[in-house]
Amino acid sequence: MIGRYQPFHKGHLEVIKNILKEVDDLIIGIGSAQVSHTLDNPFTAGERMTMISNALKEEGLAERCCYIIPIPDVWNNALWVNHVKSLTPHFDAAYTGNVLALRLLREGGIDARIQPLFDRAKYSGTEIRRRMLKGEDWESLVPPAVVKVVKSIKGVERLKDITKSDKITYLEPGDASP
Ligand code: NAP
Repeated sequence: MIGRYQPFHKGHLEVIKNILKEVDDLIIGIGSAQVSHTLDNPFTAGERMTMISNALKEEGLAERCCYIIPIPDVWNNALWVNHVKSLTPHFDAAYTGNVLALRLLREGGIDARIQPLFDRAKYSGTEIRRRMLKGEDWESLVPPAVVKVVKSIKGVERLKDITKSDKITYLEPGDASP
């Protein structure tokens, strides 16, 4: 299963539980692993690995999802499937929520499947990042282990700081430093 997990939330956890009804073991690929500290991708691959690993342990699912593998993007879509294969143990099927990824995997001969996310309006990375920025409740949308990780890395403060970075770009010569 490949996704960006920015952050890992209860919708992803439900997807994992459903996929585990269809497969023996699940490899979790963390997409866009090279990206962090942006509004859409605030968390590093390492932080996302910790979130997922701790949430899976909390749910007793760690044994069946024993590989969590960071997958950086490559600037050539035609090479992406082989790039993914080169980083992961053998897999028989792939799950994604990304239409481009689905197409590329299928064109690469992989049995690629879409697994609908649970209660999509609420359990969405975009909605959770929005709530973090607005100071609204986001904690109830992610597993308790993820709340702990986000708090330990001061993730909400990071996200709020990222929104300020534009202002720094537009400072005029002679303006006070931020
Ligand atoms: P995405 O475009 O960020 O997500 C697509 C949507 O699907 C999001 O709304 C996401 O929800 C949802 N989703 C995430 N996991 C899901 C799942 N297992 N089942 C159903 N829906 C799911 O893409 P992504 O799915 O997170 O990850 C695809 C990764 O592959 C990305 O990192 C992308 O960059 C990478 N990729 C790279 C290349 C290349 O390098 N050339 C080519 C294709 C794909 P949330 O926002 O709530 O998570």
